Amino acid sequence: MMKTLVYGLGESGIAACRALLERGEKVVAADAQETEGLRETLENLGVEGCLGAGPEVLEGVEQVVASPGIPPRDAVLQAAEEQGIPVLSEAALGLKLLGPEVRVAAVTGTNGKTTVVDMLRCILAGVGMPHAVAGNSWRALTGCLEEVEKAGLLVLELSSFQLHYLENGAFEVAALLNVRPDHLNWHASFEEYARDKLRIFEGQDTDDLALVSANDAVGKKAAETLEAQTLVVGENGTWVWDGNLFLRGTRIISEAELRFAGVHNLENALFAAAMAEKLGVSLWQVRNALKDYRLKPHRMEVVAESEGVLYVDDSKATNPAAVAAALQSFDKPVVLILGGSEKDTDFGEILPHLDRCRGVVCQGEAGPRIFRSLREAGLGERARLAPDLDGAVAVAKDVSRAGDVVLLSPGCASFDQFMGYAERGDVFAELVGEDTGAHGKAVGQ
Ligand code: ADP
Repeated sequence: MMKTLVYGLGESGIAACRALLERGEKVVAADAQETEGLRETLENLGVEGCLGAGPEVLEGVEQVVASPGIPPRDAVLQAAEEQGIPVLSEAALGLKLLGPEVRVAAVTGTNGKTTVVDMLRCILAGVGMPHAVAGNSWRALTGCLEEVEKAGLLVLELSSFQLHYLENGAFEVAALLNVRPDHLNWHASFEEYARDKLRIFEGQDTDDLALVSANDAVGKKAAETLEAQTLVVGENGTWVWDGNLFLRGTRIISEAELRFAGVHNLENALFAAAMAEKLGVSLWQVRNALKDYRLKPHRMEVVAESEGVLYVDDSKATNPAAVAAALQSFDKPVVLILGGSEKDTDFGEILPHLDRCRGVVCQGEAGPRIFRSLREAGLGERARLAPDLDGAVAVAKDVSRAGDVVLLSPGCASFDQFMGYAERGDVFAELVGEDTGAHGKAVGQ
């Protein structure tokens, strides 16, 4: 029997402990923090535990399961590495416990993971193909192993955290949507972040499918050397052409038939379509599912329309690449609300897209720094500063004119003022006031 240290007792750590205990494995549960909530967690698990843990917790441990969010420079993880103790992410543990019989379609990328997984989920549900969805923004994989085994097909969303400690996934289908600067407070460098994302293709062979985007330098370069069959979305007939989505030269659906907009979402749809096709779904069935697909909340969601101004909640945009994608989705003048918690992100990437902005309101903890950088870039006239989201909405209402879009696409996390992106988006919807039945309508409809 192997002794496993489950390190980090959040949702996925708890699920990992339970899965191991159910299998009669020896488990030590530990966390670097020491709080009342964690003490309760340990008690509920009824397992040997250690809070405020340091490297001494590794005594006798043969493998470590690390929760996402713990950076590799953490003292316990560093010590494990030095002592040659294997470290697995919770998703990697889940895959190991499942074994090779389950088919896996995995998705990673800086932006669009949840959307592609959700689109694929809808396509599979539409044809009644048994499947289970887990990972990253969905539930912990180790918490639903039985369901996955029963379905025989797993759609798995993987973050770079989860891929950092995952070896040899050998996924039947693996999609890398894009690699843009984000989470650099966790990863040592952009290069390391990109390397982690590329691990999604490890262990694939020539029967498997690898997907990358023509618009993404990291994926495009990797495509030249991948073992699996490789499809580059945006090349060779898998693209949007003349208002239609094509997969390997076959037309799937026209843009006009879709209930979502934005070039990035059309690309997401192509990824989902190619994955579904590989799993055995016909393009006709893909079409039927995409036709009715609606984006999840807080992603380019129209939340109000008042005095000719459209208010769009893209609170889920927590890095500059997502903001750039949002800005490219509008022909109308935009008043953009940027800012939130500070990650020292470089907003240079959005500068080329700001010419369509009537105003840029910088707010929150990162607001003053973003405001200064816009002024330095010669955009001082358009840039405004507000203390918080409340103030920013007031400025945006003031600056906007009929025919404009007020877009909350903050490019930052929300924790300076909110519990998460969903709360930030809900507060935005409340602040922009009277909803004239626009809520839930897709941009472009
Ligand atoms: P993730 O799960 O990777 O965070 P989401 O699907 O939740 O991705 O979308 C996060 C944000 O990124 C949203 O603001 C969305 O509009 C934007 N986005 C979605 N897909 C893409 C893409 N392919 N490229 C750039 N931005 C995207």
